[in-house]
Amino acid sequence: MPSSLADRALKNEALALHGGTPVRDNWLPYGHHSIDEGDIAAVIEVLRSDWITQGPKVDEFEQAVADCCGAKYGVALSSGTAALHAACAAAGLGPGDEVITTPLTFVATANAVVYCGAKPVFADVQVRTLNIDPEQVERRITAKTKAILPVDFAGQPANLDEIFDLARKHDLVVIEDACHALGAEYKGRKIGSVSLMTTFSFHPVKHVTTGEGGMVLTDDREVAQRVKSLRHHGIRYLDSQRPWVYEIPRLGYNYRLSDIHCALGRSQLRRLASGLSRRREIATAYTRSLSILDQVSLLEPSLDVQHAWHLYIILLNLEKLSADRDTVVEALRAENIGAALHYPLVYLHPFYRKCFGYGEGLCPIAEALAPRMVTLPMFPEMTDSDVDDVLAAMGKVLRCFSRKA
Ligand SMILES: *Cc1c(COP(=O)(O)O)cnc(C)c1O
Repeated sequence: MPSSLADRALKNEALALHGGTPVRDNWLPYGHHSIDEGDIAAVIEVLRSDWITQGPKVDEFEQAVADCCGAKYGVALSSGTAALHAACAAAGLGPGDEVITTPLTFVATANAVVYCGAKPVFADVQVRTLNIDPEQVERRITAKTKAILPVDFAGQPANLDEIFDLARKHDLVVIEDACHALGAEYKGRKIGSVSLMTTFSFHPVKHVTTGEGGMVLTDDREVAQRVKSLRHHGIRYLDSQRPWVYEIPRLGYNYRLSDIHCALGRSQLRRLASGLSRRREIATAYTRSLSILDQVSLLEPSLDVQHAWHLYIILLNLEKLSADRDTVVEALRAENIGAALHYPLVYLHPFYRKCFGYGEGLCPIAEALAPRMVTLPMFPEMTDSDVDDVLAAMGKVLRCFSRKA
């Protein structure tokens, strides 16, 4: 830690949790959207136009995201969850099918499988990256397995080549949940151009926001058509001149995204590159300072990926601390540092226990890591002084809870 930070931390050594002065006066959230005047003007322009919902801005945003990620087709949907559900439905998942995914993700990933009547099966993660472990995936494959649903956790692409090898060998579909990884790259290829279907979320904590929104990217024209039809009640138009002539060959949904949302997304997308480079700067600053603390372990991103740094997650070395993870998080929050937790393991939620009979012991590595994980603030508008505050608070809290040898 730079000595100025250490000095600052030492001066106010009593934790705010214990009545001391917090490292900063105002709250620093773990994530925050950024909206500029251009974004606002883009939305107002739509409000003054003839189209409010699905109009030209939807096509424009879909094409812009597809171009940005090197994919042929983009289909915008009302949320990242809707994108996952539509992708699972487009893959034909249904009752009796199994889908292998990670327990360390937002619950939407597995819920999308359940919406289709299929069963989510959980494979353990790798310690280095917290991404799903292809060897564990292979051990979960049965005659019922239809798809693998890897998540690019925290913004680091999963081990996609190994996953594709398994998919080819066992004739499985790969749906990649890249809700954390817009702008990431895997072995020189842009995320969104690699899997049969890749899903994104435009929730405000993600890299680009539309308020609520999501997208499926694919290079397969027929798959794109299927997702589009699922987005709009399953409708198939029979005559391009007469939109009232249509039929419903399969059940679909109203998962449409509006022109209002897409105008915001299109404007936001112009700042994706600068946002990513700021996230990388922050990650580098965190890593430089935190790697010398023995109370924490850092993840080890692979060298063949470009990380999108949606989240910066550290692992506490609990044997070196006199407090548990929740106390450390509370202490950081008392210092006005919005430390957070991502995520409770999916299969340990009451619904998953009850519905699928899951419980402790299913993924021992994830279960051992989850109680050690802490998410630090990470968003492009964080200033260098915000970063210093996080590091000062980390130093203060860890020093206070350090278990003396
Ligand atoms: C945000 C997120 C989703 C869901 O996206 P919404 O737009 O909130 O529906 C799905 N999976 C992961 C990994 C996410 O982080």
